[in-house]
Amino acid sequence: MHLSELKLRLFRNLGVQELSFPEEGVAIVGPNAQGKSNLLEAIYYLEIFRSFRGSKLQNLVAFGEDFFRIEGFIESKEGEQLAMNIAAAYETSGRRRKITINAREPKRVGDAIGHLGAVVFSPADVRIIEGGPSVRRRYMDVILSLNREGYLESLQTYKHVLAQRNSALRSGADMSVVQVWDDSLAKSASKIMMERAGWVAERQTDFSRYYEEVSAEDSASMTYVSKMNIEDWSQEGIYAQCLITLQESKDRDYLRKSTTRGPHLDELWMSLEGDKTLGELRELGSGGQRRTAALALRLIEGDTIRDSRGVQPILLLDDAFAELDDGRRERVVLLMDQGRFGQVIMTAPKESDVYIHGDRIEQWGIKDGRVQA
Ligand code: ATP
Ligand code: MG
Repeated sequence: MHLSELKLRLFRNLGVQELSFPEEGVAIVGPNAQGKSNLLEAIYYLEIFRSFRGSKLQNLVAFGEDFFRIEGFIESKEGEQLAMNIAAAYETSGRRRKITINAREPKRVGDAIGHLGAVVFSPADVRIIEGGPSVRRRYMDVILSLNREGYLESLQTYKHVLAQRNSALRSGADMSVVQVWDDSLAKSASKIMMERAGWVAERQTDFSRYYEEVSAEDSASMTYVSKMNIEDWSQEGIYAQCLITLQESKDRDYLRKSTTRGPHLDELWMSLEGDKTLGELRELGSGGQRRTAALALRLIEGDTIRDSRGVQPILLLDDAFAELDDGRRERVVLLMDQGRFGQVIMTAPKESDVYIHGDRIEQWGIKDGRVQA
């Protein structure tokens, strides 16, 4: 599958334009602040209907305008029939988001996400490593929402119920009132924790292998860590333990006026495992080591998409190798080019030859938001 056409209307500084992308991909080269990241943001919007840079929807609308619209055509093979059409619009004044997949409106955003099949690599990914635990939880939540049936729904339920329970705790309500929420909290928590822990267990070997292959020196690992003491990681087992834990921590919850155990406090623990160093990556890792770990996280994200949807994900590289040394950079491109990904759409501030699938990738320019193919 590849993105064959993209129609843009008033998304950021991209104006009104229609682009036809080569099946292999393209490198978009231009100076800073021309719209390179904006273009990848527009493409990835069709996967998650949000900004991969975390911008608010209204900031995606061109200055002084009231709406944007993005439409993408995804083909399975050159010349073959159209596989999919994804269109999305947002209107600021009505705060309305509109999405269609093959001209039909999905009931919920949860049904619309995850149809493009793409992974974005950007220098900002290093924040997943450097940031607090919530950033890494969000990283897992996005991947699992896109690739595991029912995950997003459980996550939304959990957040909603947790907010209700915490607000009851804050208002000093009787514990019996607070505990009304415990069963549905435990149910949704068990789904979230089972999927997260299962996914981490499934991907941790590859994560370490990718890290080692890029680094060629040391190693790193990731583990799912819960403050809950769970021995049986089946969904029923987690559910039962959640109920016990909520019961056990009720005095502390009451005192702190918030729910002190649960997947909202769990961690994707990342550590360095070199000859000389051993410990938390975020504390001990050098800039390059953190970047390497971030790349490995995106590579396992790509693997997850390929395994769960049976497609080679589109690779969106937003100046992704900017701060890597030459050796690491070459080894990453090599890793990416082993049939893991399909089409490659990349950006760079300077021209540089990139060979993907054996061919030198075509280069386009961009100036003031206008792509020059
Ligand atoms: P760099 O190489 O520095 O990463 P870039 O080409 O990736 O640059 P972008 O982030 O894509 O740059 O685009 C930045 C430009 O887009 C800025 O000049 C900014 O003013 C403009 N811009 C951002 N949001 C909007 C918007 N809502 N409407 C119009 N222009 C916008
Ligand atoms: Mg940029």
